[in-house]
Amino acid sequence: MTGSAASARPQVRPRAEGWTQRTNSEGRPLLQFKQPRVKQPPTHLADLTLAERQEKVKELGLPGFRAKQLSTHYFVHHTSDPEQMTDLPQSGRAELVEQMLPPLLTEVRRFSTDSGDTIKFLWRLFDGALVESVLMRYPGRITLCVSSQAGCGMNCPFCATGQNGLTRNMSTAEIVEQVVRANQAIADGELGGRRGDRDPSAPAERVSNIVFMGMGEPLANYKRVISSVRRMVDPAPEGLGMSARNITVSTVGLVPAINKLADEGIPVTFALSLHAPDDELRDELIPVNSRWKADEAIDAAYNYYRTTGRRVSIEYALIKDMNDHAWRADLLAKKLNARGRGWVHVNPIPLNPTPGSIWTSSEPDVTAEFVRRLNDAGVPTTLRDTRGKEIDGACGQLAAEEV
Ligand code: SAH
Repeated sequence: MTGSAASARPQVRPRAEGWTQRTNSEGRPLLQFKQPRVKQPPTHLADLTLAERQEKVKELGLPGFRAKQLSTHYFVHHTSDPEQMTDLPQSGRAELVEQMLPPLLTEVRRFSTDSGDTIKFLWRLFDGALVESVLMRYPGRITLCVSSQAGCGMNCPFCATGQNGLTRNMSTAEIVEQVVRANQAIADGELGGRRGDRDPSAPAERVSNIVFMGMGEPLANYKRVISSVRRMVDPAPEGLGMSARNITVSTVGLVPAINKLADEGIPVTFALSLHAPDDELRDELIPVNSRWKADEAIDAAYNYYRTTGRRVSIEYALIKDMNDHAWRADLLAKKLNARGRGWVHVNPIPLNPTPGSIWTSSEPDVTAEFVRRLNDAGVPTTLRDTRGKEIDGACGQLAAEEV
């Protein structure tokens, strides 16, 4: 695999820098698919379908329609505050809200950058676990990057989240609550950049796009992630009434789960974190490649496209002299084109260095060459804009530490 261009450029091997990658008994990077046995948070309205909420309200001795009222408060008005729920009888209101809308996320800190256009939230969960979400305003859309697990068990050496392993899966409602709290912040005018000349009769702004690119491997927490997606797309007041197309599920490549996702019947956007087209490098860069090889992951992505008709994304963090060689761009294009045309686009992103790491992002000319080669080969490729670096809020930098 060494062309003349390749031999001119060095090949850096992935190595954990400034921290020790946990290994299994065979000395391979440890993979944690199952969470340790831990207590789950209290059941919240967002964990349940509307019918289940009605059941629960009845069990509490109240008429079923209260479930709909509570759901409207939560999903439409983004509130869990009994004081604001004046359509509910005063007597017993606080208790009802406590049962149905227990507090799930406590804001620990907030970091803001890009003149207020990017906000990173640090949340504490009921058991003290810390997670983060990142809210970003772009022209024409507001995107929230959500976490699906506290920590991550996938142990990728270039990502800050995996360095301490998996703490636990987040519950459906803990995932959804990140969106509701972001909507609350937007409604309170806390996200910058709102145009002053907006039509006052225009609907209130809220999160329009979700990316499961925060902490955790979403497909390792499959059931809860899928229910959270259902809550996001269910029409109000059952859910948030968002469009599935605006929700992106990103994975390291858990092949059976990708195939299952394709059959769910929810047309979410699918993204595969490939980062290397060759197994030799991907084995080291994405430890789960020991289970499912690059070709199997690409096949599963292609199957996602075939089953859903949705064009998929390939994510590729460009790391200097590690995975940014021209021959790798060519090999990637070859592998994608071998499956067909028009089914995929590649979304390279310059690496965001994690604390202690000596790896750096690719040089601009190398990056441009990588993108050009893919485009020339007929694979639509666009460099991903990176946001929130100054607040450690960019892709792969979420470590949720209290500082
Ligand atoms: N576990 C999922 C989702 C979380 S990470 C996944 O791996 O896809 C979201 C994206 O950020 C992934 O593509 C991931 O590979 C990428 N990423 C991780 N660390 C990064 C870093 N240091 N710089 C740039 N992107 C990074």
